[in-house]
Amino acid sequence: MLKGRELALFRKQLLAWFHQFQRDLPWRRTRDPYGVWVSEIMLQQTRVAAVIPYYERFLERFPNLQELAAAPEEEVLRMWSGLGYYSRARNLQKAAQKIVADHGGEFPTRLEEMLELPGIGNYTAAAILSIAFGKKHAGLDGNVARVLTRLAAIRGDVHASQQRQELLECAEDYLDRKSPGDWNQAMMELGATLCAPKSPQCLLCPVAQFCDGRKLGIAELLPEKRKKRETVEVRLAAAVFADEEGRTLLLPPPEERNAQAPVDHVPTLASNLWHFPTISVNGDPVAKLRGHLRKLQIQSRNGSFHFVAAEKVRHTVTYRNIIVEPFRITVKRLPRIKEAEQVPLSGITVLPVSNLTRKVARAALVATCSAARNR
Ligand code: SF4
Repeated sequence: MLKGRELALFRKQLLAWFHQFQRDLPWRRTRDPYGVWVSEIMLQQTRVAAVIPYYERFLERFPNLQELAAAPEEEVLRMWSGLGYYSRARNLQKAAQKIVADHGGEFPTRLEEMLELPGIGNYTAAAILSIAFGKKHAGLDGNVARVLTRLAAIRGDVHASQQRQELLECAEDYLDRKSPGDWNQAMMELGATLCAPKSPQCLLCPVAQFCDGRKLGIAELLPEKRKKRETVEVRLAAAVFADEEGRTLLLPPPEERNAQAPVDHVPTLASNLWHFPTISVNGDPVAKLRGHLRKLQIQSRNGSFHFVAAEKVRHTVTYRNIIVEPFRITVKRLPRIKEAEQVPLSGITVLPVSNLTRKVARAALVATCSAARNR
Protein backbone atom coordinates (compact mmCIF):
# COMPACT_ATOMS: atom_id res chain seq x y z
CA MET A 1 0.00 0.00 0.00
CA LEU A 2 1.35 3.43 -0.91
CA LYS A 3 2.10 5.86 1.94
CA GLY A 4 3.43 9.39 2.58
CA ARG A 5 5.26 11.14 -0.23
CA GLU A 6 4.86 8.24 -2.61
CA LEU A 7 1.07 8.36 -2.18
CA ALA A 8 1.06 12.15 -2.67
CA LEU A 9 3.02 11.78 -5.91
CA PHE A 10 0.75 8.99 -7.10
CA ARG A 11 -2.33 11.19 -6.57
CA LYS A 12 -0.70 14.20 -8.22
CA GLN A 13 0.32 12.27 -11.33
CA LEU A 14 -3.05 10.57 -11.78
CA LEU A 15 -5.01 13.82 -11.35
CA ALA A 16 -2.70 15.71 -13.75
CA TRP A 17 -3.18 12.97 -16.36
CA PHE A 18 -6.96 13.07 -15.87
CA HIS A 19 -7.12 16.84 -16.22
CA GLN A 20 -5.16 16.69 -19.45
CA PHE A 21 -6.49 13.55 -21.13
CA GLN A 22 -10.01 12.90 -19.84
CA ARG A 23 -12.61 12.17 -22.51
CA ASP A 24 -15.10 14.94 -23.19
CA LEU A 25 -18.34 13.27 -22.07
CA PRO A 26 -21.69 15.09 -21.75
CA TRP A 27 -22.11 14.26 -18.06
CA ARG A 28 -18.67 15.66 -17.27
CA ARG A 29 -19.91 19.13 -18.22
CA THR A 30 -22.15 19.27 -15.17
CA ARG A 31 -21.93 18.92 -11.40
CA ASP A 32 -25.71 18.82 -11.13
CA PRO A 33 -26.50 15.72 -9.01
CA TYR A 34 -29.44 14.82 -11.26
CA GLY A 35 -27.27 14.68 -14.41
CA VAL A 36 -24.49 12.82 -12.59
CA TRP A 37 -27.00 10.33 -11.20
CA VAL A 38 -28.69 9.61 -14.56
CA SER A 39 -25.29 9.05 -16.20
CA GLU A 40 -24.09 6.72 -13.43
CA ILE A 41 -27.24 4.60 -13.67
CA MET A 42 -27.09 4.44 -17.47
CA LEU A 43 -23.40 3.51 -17.41
CA GLN A 44 -24.03 0.42 -15.27
CA GLN A 45 -23.29 -2.57 -17.54
CA THR A 46 -23.45 -0.34 -20.62
CA ARG A 47 -20.71 1.10 -22.81
CA VAL A 48 -20.06 4.86 -22.85
CA ALA A 49 -20.66 5.15 -26.62
CA ALA A 50 -24.07 3.49 -26.28
CA VAL A 51 -25.06 5.67 -23.34
CA ILE A 52 -24.29 9.12 -24.85
CA PRO A 53 -27.34 9.45 -27.20
CA TYR A 54 -29.67 7.99 -24.56
CA TYR A 55 -28.35 10.33 -21.91
CA GLU A 56 -28.83 13.39 -24.12
CA ARG A 57 -32.37 12.40 -25.18
CA PHE A 58 -33.35 11.47 -21.62
CA LEU A 59 -32.20 14.81 -20.19
CA GLU A 60 -33.93 16.69 -22.96
CA ARG A 61 -37.21 14.92 -22.17
CA PHE A 62 -36.75 14.91 -18.36
CA PRO A 63 -34.49 17.91 -17.59
CA ASN A 64 -34.87 17.59 -13.82
CA LEU A 65 -35.99 15.07 -11.25
CA GLN A 66 -39.39 16.72 -10.77
CA GLU A 67 -40.23 16.09 -14.43
CA LEU A 68 -38.95 12.53 -14.16
CA ALA A 69 -40.96 11.89 -10.99
CA ALA A 70 -44.17 13.19 -12.58
CA ALA A 71 -43.87 11.38 -15.93
CA PRO A 72 -45.90 8.25 -16.78
CA GLU A 73 -43.71 5.15 -16.20
CA GLU A 74 -44.41 4.04 -19.75
CA GLU A 75 -42.83 7.24 -21.09
CA VAL A 76 -39.72 6.72 -18.94
CA LEU A 77 -39.40 3.14 -20.23
CA ARG A 78 -39.90 4.32 -23.80
CA MET A 79 -36.99 6.76 -23.44
CA TRP A 80 -34.91 3.88 -22.02
CA SER A 81 -36.03 1.43 -24.70
CA GLY A 82 -32.99 -0.32 -26.22
CA LEU A 83 -30.62 0.45 -23.36
CA GLY A 84 -31.49 -2.79 -21.52
CA TYR A 85 -31.71 -3.67 -17.81
CA TYR A 86 -35.04 -1.87 -17.47
CA SER A 87 -35.22 -2.16 -13.70
CA ARG A 88 -32.67 0.68 -13.76
CA ALA A 89 -35.23 2.99 -15.38
CA ARG A 90 -38.01 1.92 -13.04
CA ASN A 91 -35.81 2.46 -9.98
CA LEU A 92 -34.60 5.79 -11.31
CA GLN A 93 -38.15 7.06 -11.43
CA LYS A 94 -39.07 5.55 -8.03
CA ALA A 95 -36.02 7.26 -6.51
CA ALA A 96 -36.98 10.59 -8.13
CA GLN A 97 -40.48 10.24 -6.63
CA LYS A 98 -38.99 9.47 -3.21
CA ILE A 99 -36.68 12.49 -3.37
CA VAL A 100 -39.67 14.71 -4.22
CA ALA A 101 -41.85 13.15 -1.48
CA ASP A 102 -39.27 12.81 1.33
CA HIS A 103 -36.63 15.47 0.58
CA GLY A 104 -38.65 18.31 -0.99
CA GLY A 105 -37.11 17.61 -4.40
CA GLU A 106 -33.52 18.20 -3.17
CA PHE A 107 -30.94 15.43 -3.45
CA PRO A 108 -29.97 14.07 -0.03
CA THR A 109 -26.31 14.70 0.76
CA ARG A 110 -25.80 12.02 3.43
CA LEU A 111 -24.65 8.54 2.45
CA GLU A 112 -27.27 6.74 4.60
CA GLU A 113 -30.12 8.72 3.00
CA MET A 114 -28.73 8.18 -0.45
CA LEU A 115 -28.55 4.42 0.12
CA GLU A 116 -32.27 4.36 0.95
CA LEU A 117 -33.12 5.38 -2.62
CA PRO A 118 -34.13 2.58 -5.01
CA GLY A 119 -31.33 1.53 -7.37
CA ILE A 120 -28.58 3.42 -5.52
CA GLY A 121 -25.83 1.28 -4.03
CA ASN A 122 -22.50 2.15 -2.47
CA TYR A 123 -20.72 2.88 -5.71
CA THR A 124 -23.42 5.14 -7.22
CA ALA A 125 -23.89 6.99 -3.91
CA ALA A 126 -20.13 7.61 -3.65
CA ALA A 127 -19.98 8.83 -7.25
CA ILE A 128 -22.88 11.28 -6.85
CA LEU A 129 -21.76 12.54 -3.44
CA SER A 130 -18.16 13.08 -4.48
CA ILE A 131 -18.74 14.52 -7.97
CA ALA A 132 -21.79 16.70 -7.23
CA PHE A 133 -21.13 17.64 -3.60
CA GLY A 134 -17.37 17.17 -3.10
CA LYS A 135 -17.96 14.62 -0.30
CA LYS A 136 -15.08 12.36 0.66
CA HIS A 137 -16.39 8.96 -0.47
CA ALA A 138 -14.32 6.57 -2.59
CA GLY A 139 -16.12 4.89 -5.50
CA LEU A 140 -15.39 1.24 -6.17
CA ASP A 141 -16.86 -0.05 -9.42
CA GLY A 142 -15.50 -2.74 -11.75
CA ASN A 143 -13.05 -0.37 -13.44
CA VAL A 144 -11.66 0.97 -10.16
CA ALA A 145 -11.45 -2.52 -8.67
CA ARG A 146 -9.38 -3.69 -11.64
CA VAL A 147 -6.97 -0.74 -11.35
CA LEU A 148 -6.52 -1.23 -7.59
CA THR A 149 -6.11 -5.00 -7.95
CA ARG A 150 -3.26 -4.40 -10.38
CA LEU A 151 -1.68 -1.50 -8.51
CA ALA A 152 -1.55 -3.49 -5.26
CA ALA A 153 -1.13 -6.89 -7.00
CA ILE A 154 -4.06 -8.40 -5.09
CA ARG A 155 -4.30 -12.13 -5.80
CA GLY A 156 -7.35 -14.40 -5.59
CA ASP A 157 -11.04 -13.78 -6.24
CA VAL A 158 -11.78 -10.06 -5.74
CA HIS A 159 -15.39 -10.95 -4.91
CA ALA A 160 -14.28 -12.95 -1.87
CA SER A 161 -14.65 -11.09 1.42
CA GLN A 162 -10.93 -10.81 2.26
CA GLN A 163 -9.97 -9.38 -1.13
CA ARG A 164 -13.04 -7.16 -1.14
CA GLN A 165 -12.02 -5.71 2.21
CA GLU A 166 -8.49 -5.10 0.93
CA LEU A 167 -9.89 -3.27 -2.09
CA LEU A 168 -12.21 -1.10 0.01
CA GLU A 169 -9.33 -0.10 2.30
CA CYS A 170 -7.12 0.62 -0.67
CA ALA A 171 -9.83 2.76 -2.35
CA GLU A 172 -10.39 4.78 0.87
CA ASP A 173 -6.63 5.23 1.53
CA TYR A 174 -5.86 6.41 -1.99
CA LEU A 175 -8.82 8.84 -2.24
CA ASP A 176 -7.63 12.39 -2.77
CA ARG A 177 -9.50 14.21 -0.03
CA LYS A 178 -9.05 17.63 -1.62
CA SER A 179 -10.81 16.65 -4.85
CA PRO A 180 -12.72 13.39 -4.29
CA GLY A 181 -15.00 13.91 -7.32
CA ASP A 182 -12.10 14.31 -9.77
CA TRP A 183 -10.26 11.51 -8.02
CA ASN A 184 -13.06 9.01 -8.44
CA GLN A 185 -13.48 9.99 -12.06
CA ALA A 186 -9.72 9.75 -12.67
CA MET A 187 -9.61 6.20 -11.28
CA MET A 188 -12.61 5.21 -13.41
CA GLU A 189 -11.08 6.86 -16.47
CA LEU A 190 -7.81 5.00 -16.01
CA GLY A 191 -9.72 1.70 -15.75
CA ALA A 192 -11.91 2.51 -18.74
CA THR A 193 -9.06 3.57 -21.02
CA LEU A 194 -5.45 2.51 -20.32
CA CYS A 195 -5.96 -0.12 -17.63
CA ALA A 196 -8.47 -2.05 -19.74
CA PRO A 197 -9.39 -5.68 -18.90
CA LYS A 198 -7.25 -7.04 -21.76
CA SER A 199 -3.82 -5.69 -22.70
CA PRO A 200 -3.36 -2.80 -20.24
CA GLN A 201 -1.28 -0.03 -21.82
CA CYS A 202 1.28 0.23 -19.05
CA LEU A 203 3.74 2.17 -21.22
CA LEU A 204 1.29 5.09 -21.36
CA CYS A 205 0.12 4.79 -17.76
CA PRO A 206 0.70 7.90 -15.62
CA VAL A 207 1.12 5.79 -12.46
CA ALA A 208 3.07 2.83 -13.87
CA GLN A 209 5.97 3.43 -11.44
CA PHE A 210 3.63 2.65 -8.49
CA CYS A 211 2.09 -0.48 -9.97
CA ASP A 212 3.10 -3.75 -8.30
CA GLY A 213 1.18 -5.80 -10.86
CA ARG A 214 3.29 -4.33 -13.66
CA LYS A 215 6.54 -4.75 -11.68
CA LEU A 216 5.74 -8.43 -11.09
CA GLY A 217 4.77 -8.89 -14.75
CA ILE A 218 1.28 -10.14 -13.82
CA ALA A 219 -0.83 -7.03 -14.53
CA GLU A 220 -2.64 -8.66 -17.43
CA LEU A 221 -3.55 -11.69 -15.31
CA LEU A 222 -5.27 -9.57 -12.67
CA PRO A 223 -7.94 -9.58 -11.38
CA GLU A 224 -7.81 -13.38 -11.27
CA LYS A 225 -10.84 -14.94 -12.91
CA ARG A 226 -13.60 -16.37 -10.79
CA LYS A 227 -15.51 -19.46 -11.87
CA LYS A 228 -18.13 -18.55 -14.44
CA ARG A 229 -21.73 -19.55 -13.92
CA GLU A 230 -22.73 -22.21 -16.43
CA THR A 231 -24.72 -20.88 -19.36
CA VAL A 232 -28.30 -22.02 -19.81
CA GLU A 233 -30.01 -22.32 -23.17
CA VAL A 234 -33.58 -21.02 -23.38
CA ARG A 235 -35.74 -21.73 -26.44
CA LEU A 236 -38.76 -19.57 -27.13
CA ALA A 237 -41.33 -19.23 -29.90
CA ALA A 238 -42.99 -15.89 -30.67
CA ALA A 239 -46.14 -15.11 -32.64
CA VAL A 240 -45.74 -12.01 -34.80
CA PHE A 241 -49.07 -11.05 -36.30
CA ALA A 242 -49.18 -8.77 -39.34
CA ASP A 243 -52.38 -7.38 -40.83
CA GLU A 244 -52.85 -5.86 -44.27
CA GLU A 245 -51.73 -2.46 -43.00
CA GLY A 246 -48.52 -3.84 -41.49
CA ARG A 247 -49.80 -3.60 -37.91
CA THR A 248 -48.93 -6.13 -35.26
CA LEU A 249 -50.06 -7.14 -31.78
CA LEU A 250 -48.02 -6.56 -28.61
CA LEU A 251 -48.90 -7.75 -25.11
CA PRO A 252 -48.36 -5.49 -22.08
CA PRO A 253 -45.86 -6.06 -19.25
CA PRO A 254 -47.21 -8.75 -16.88
CA GLU A 255 -48.19 -6.41 -14.05
CA GLU A 256 -50.58 -4.60 -16.40
CA ARG A 257 -52.16 -7.83 -17.57
CA ASN A 258 -55.34 -9.37 -16.38
CA ALA A 259 -54.52 -11.57 -13.37
CA GLN A 260 -56.34 -14.44 -15.11
CA ALA A 261 -54.07 -14.30 -18.17
CA PRO A 262 -51.43 -17.03 -18.38
CA VAL A 263 -48.03 -15.68 -17.37
CA ASP A 264 -44.81 -17.69 -17.53
CA HIS A 265 -41.19 -16.63 -17.36
CA VAL A 266 -41.25 -15.21 -20.89
CA PRO A 267 -42.22 -11.64 -19.99
CA THR A 268 -39.25 -11.59 -17.61
CA LEU A 269 -37.01 -12.38 -20.55
CA ALA A 270 -38.63 -9.51 -22.39
CA SER A 271 -37.61 -7.29 -19.44
CA ASN A 272 -41.20 -6.84 -18.27
CA LEU A 273 -41.94 -4.62 -21.24
CA TRP A 274 -44.33 -4.91 -24.17
CA HIS A 275 -43.71 -8.13 -26.10
CA PHE A 276 -45.05 -10.49 -28.74
CA PRO A 277 -47.08 -13.49 -27.55
CA THR A 278 -44.17 -15.77 -26.60
CA ILE A 279 -43.83 -19.18 -25.00
CA SER A 280 -40.91 -21.37 -23.95
CA VAL A 281 -40.61 -24.54 -26.04
CA ASN A 282 -38.82 -27.86 -25.89
CA GLY A 283 -40.64 -29.69 -28.69
CA ASP A 284 -42.74 -28.59 -31.64
CA PRO A 285 -42.77 -24.76 -31.48
CA VAL A 286 -45.85 -24.36 -33.67
CA ALA A 287 -47.98 -26.70 -31.54
CA LYS A 288 -46.80 -24.97 -28.37
CA LEU A 289 -47.48 -21.53 -29.79
CA ARG A 290 -50.95 -22.53 -31.00
CA GLY A 291 -51.74 -23.75 -27.48
CA HIS A 292 -50.40 -20.51 -26.00
CA LEU A 293 -52.53 -18.36 -28.32
CA ARG A 294 -55.58 -20.43 -27.34
CA LYS A 295 -54.84 -19.78 -23.67
CA LEU A 296 -54.58 -16.07 -24.42
CA GLN A 297 -57.92 -16.37 -26.23
CA ILE A 298 -56.38 -15.20 -29.47
CA GLN A 299 -58.41 -16.98 -32.11
CA SER A 300 -58.50 -17.01 -35.86
CA ARG A 301 -61.66 -15.62 -37.42
CA ASN A 302 -61.55 -18.21 -40.21
CA GLY A 303 -60.21 -21.61 -39.18
CA SER A 304 -56.65 -21.73 -37.97
CA PHE A 305 -53.64 -19.43 -38.22
CA HIS A 306 -50.98 -20.05 -40.86
CA PHE A 307 -47.48 -19.86 -39.32
CA VAL A 308 -44.46 -18.83 -41.43
CA ALA A 309 -41.11 -19.38 -39.74
CA ALA A 310 -38.74 -16.39 -39.76
CA GLU A 311 -34.99 -16.48 -39.10
CA LYS A 312 -34.13 -17.53 -35.54
CA VAL A 313 -33.08 -14.73 -33.18
CA ARG A 314 -30.23 -15.17 -30.71
CA HIS A 315 -29.83 -13.01 -27.63
CA THR A 316 -27.72 -13.29 -24.52
CA VAL A 317 -28.75 -12.03 -21.10
CA THR A 318 -26.10 -12.68 -18.42
CA TYR A 319 -25.85 -16.50 -18.26
CA ARG A 320 -28.82 -17.23 -20.53
CA ASN A 321 -28.45 -17.90 -24.26
CA ILE A 322 -31.88 -17.22 -25.64
CA ILE A 323 -32.98 -18.55 -29.02
CA VAL A 324 -36.32 -17.25 -30.28
CA GLU A 325 -38.15 -18.77 -33.23
CA PRO A 326 -40.43 -16.04 -34.58
CA PHE A 327 -43.49 -17.06 -36.61
CA ARG A 328 -45.15 -14.52 -38.83
CA ILE A 329 -48.92 -14.89 -38.94
CA THR A 330 -50.51 -12.86 -41.72
CA VAL A 331 -54.14 -11.93 -41.07
CA LYS A 332 -56.73 -9.69 -42.69
CA ARG A 333 -57.60 -8.08 -39.37
CA LEU A 334 -55.69 -8.44 -36.08
CA PRO A 335 -57.45 -10.53 -33.44
CA ARG A 336 -58.98 -8.47 -30.65
CA ILE A 337 -57.52 -9.04 -27.20
CA LYS A 338 -58.37 -6.77 -24.32
CA GLU A 339 -55.03 -5.52 -23.01
CA ALA A 340 -53.04 -5.85 -26.24
CA GLU A 341 -51.98 -2.88 -28.34
CA GLN A 342 -51.93 -2.71 -32.12
CA VAL A 343 -48.82 -0.95 -33.45
CA PRO A 344 -46.94 -0.84 -36.77
CA LEU A 345 -44.60 -3.85 -37.04
CA SER A 346 -41.91 -1.54 -38.41
CA GLY A 347 -42.40 0.92 -35.53
CA ILE A 348 -42.96 -1.12 -32.37
CA THR A 349 -40.79 1.30 -30.38
CA VAL A 350 -43.80 3.59 -29.94
CA LEU A 351 -44.18 1.32 -26.87
CA PRO A 352 -41.37 0.41 -24.45
CA VAL A 353 -39.89 -2.84 -25.77
CA SER A 354 -36.68 -4.76 -25.12
CA ASN A 355 -33.85 -5.35 -27.56
CA LEU A 356 -34.95 -8.96 -27.81
CA THR A 357 -38.44 -7.89 -28.95
CA ARG A 358 -36.89 -5.51 -31.49
CA LYS A 359 -34.78 -8.33 -32.93
CA VAL A 360 -37.87 -10.54 -33.24
CA ALA A 361 -39.73 -7.74 -35.06
CA ARG A 362 -36.80 -7.27 -37.45
CA ALA A 363 -36.68 -11.01 -38.23
CA ALA A 364 -40.43 -11.03 -38.93
CA LEU A 365 -40.10 -7.98 -41.19
CA VAL A 366 -37.31 -9.66 -43.17
CA ALA A 367 -39.53 -12.74 -43.51
CA THR A 368 -42.36 -10.51 -44.76
CA CYS A 369 -40.10 -8.93 -47.40
CA SER A 370 -38.74 -12.33 -48.58
CA ALA A 371 -42.27 -13.72 -48.83
CA ALA A 372 -43.35 -10.68 -50.88
CA ARG A 373 -40.34 -11.07 -53.22
CA ASN A 374 -41.08 -14.76 -53.78
CA ARG A 375 -44.71 -14.18 -54.68
FE1 SF4 B 1 -2.92 -0.61 -15.06
FE2 SF4 B 1 -0.57 -0.97 -16.26
FE3 SF4 B 1 -1.13 1.33 -15.07
FE4 SF4 B 1 -0.68 -0.83 -13.60
S1 SF4 B 1 0.76 0.20 -14.94
S2 SF4 B 1 -2.32 0.65 -13.32
S3 SF4 B 1 -1.59 -2.40 -14.91
S4 SF4 B 1 -2.16 0.46 -16.87
